[in-house]
Amino acid sequence: MDSNKVKDSQRVSEILNKAILGEKINREEAKLLLNIDIHSKDMYRLLSCSNELSRKQFNNRGEIYAQIGINNSLCSKNCDFCVFGEKHKLILDSLELDRDDILKRGKDFLKADVEEIFLMVTADYDFENFLDIGSRLREVIPKKMKLVANLGDFDMSRARELEKAGFTGAYHICRLGEGQSTEISKEERLDTLSAIKNSKLDLYYCVEPIGPEHTIDEIVDEIFRGLEYDVSVMAVMRRIPVPNTPLENRGQISELELSKICAVTRIACGDSIRAMGVHEPSLLSLMSGANQIYAEKGCNPRDTRENTSEGRGFSVDRAKRFLWECGWKY
Ligand code: SF4
Repeated sequence: MDSNKVKDSQRVSEILNKAILGEKINREEAKLLLNIDIHSKDMYRLLSCSNELSRKQFNNRGEIYAQIGINNSLCSKNCDFCVFGEKHKLILDSLELDRDDILKRGKDFLKADVEEIFLMVTADYDFENFLDIGSRLREVIPKKMKLVANLGDFDMSRARELEKAGFTGAYHICRLGEGQSTEISKEERLDTLSAIKNSKLDLYYCVEPIGPEHTIDEIVDEIFRGLEYDVSVMAVMRRIPVPNTPLENRGQISELELSKICAVTRIACGDSIRAMGVHEPSLLSLMSGANQIYAEKGCNPRDTRENTSEGRGFSVDRAKRFLWECGWKY
C-alpha cells in the first residue's frame, strides 16, 4: 500500500471511531468516507460502523412506510428521470384513483401493519383535492399514525393547510441535478424546505436520484442540506434508468455503491434522525445503516405500470421479508 493510502486508511479509522462515540462528522470527513474504495477493508469498516449505529439507535427495529401514488398524469416539470414528464410522452392515458379507492388502499395498508402512510401526487396536481383526500384518509387511520405529503412545491400558508388537514410530515428534497435535469429551480425547492422547517411538519429528506455522473461534492451537499433543514427521516435512493426517459442511457450505480452512500449519510446524521431509509429496498443498504423501506401502490415515477404493485413497487409482505433477511425486527 502506498503511503497516501495508509494515511487515508488511518484517517478513516479516526473518523469512524469518532462516529461510534456519537460525535458528528463534518463535510470534509464525509467526502473522505465517500472516497473509500468499495472493494477495500475500509469499506467494510464503514458499513459496520453505520450498521452498528443504526442497530443501537433504532433498537434493531425496521420500519415499513406505505406510499399511495394518486395520479398517473403528465407533469409540466419534465424531470429527466421521471415517467410523468410530459415531454417524454410515456403517459398515454391519464389516470387518477378515486377517493374510495385511495381510502381502501389506505385501510389495506393499515391492516398490513405499516408504520406510516404517504400520499403522492405529481407537481401539477390540484392542491385543494390533495387536502381533501388527506383529510378523509386522516379520519380513517389512527390519530397517532403519521400521514406524509409528497407533492409539488408549496409556501408557508399551504404548509399550515397541510397541517390542518392532518398531515404530520412532508417528503421534500432538492434533487441531484435540480434545475438541470428538472424544470424546477433550486430556489423553489429550498423555499419549500424552509416552509416545512418553519411549520410543524416533519421533513423526510433523501439524497436522490443518485446516478453514476453525480460527484462526491454534489452528494455531500445533499446529505448536509437535509441536516440543515432539520431532517426527521433521512434516506438514499439510486436512480432507476426508466426506459425512454432522457437519463436512461446514463445507467445506474450498483447497490454496493449505494450502500456506501447510505452508510456515510447515516453516519453524518448521527442521532438526529428517527429512521434511515433506502429506496428502492436494497438488502445491502439494510446491512449498512438503513432500517426503513417502502411498500407502494398506485402510480410511481419509476414505473411505466399504472399500478406499481404489479411492477416495481414492493408489497408489505415483501418489505417485511427484506427486513427479516437482514435481521431487523418488525
Ligand atoms: S419527479 Fe415529480 S416534478 Fe418531476 S416530472 Fe415527475 S412528477 Fe413531475
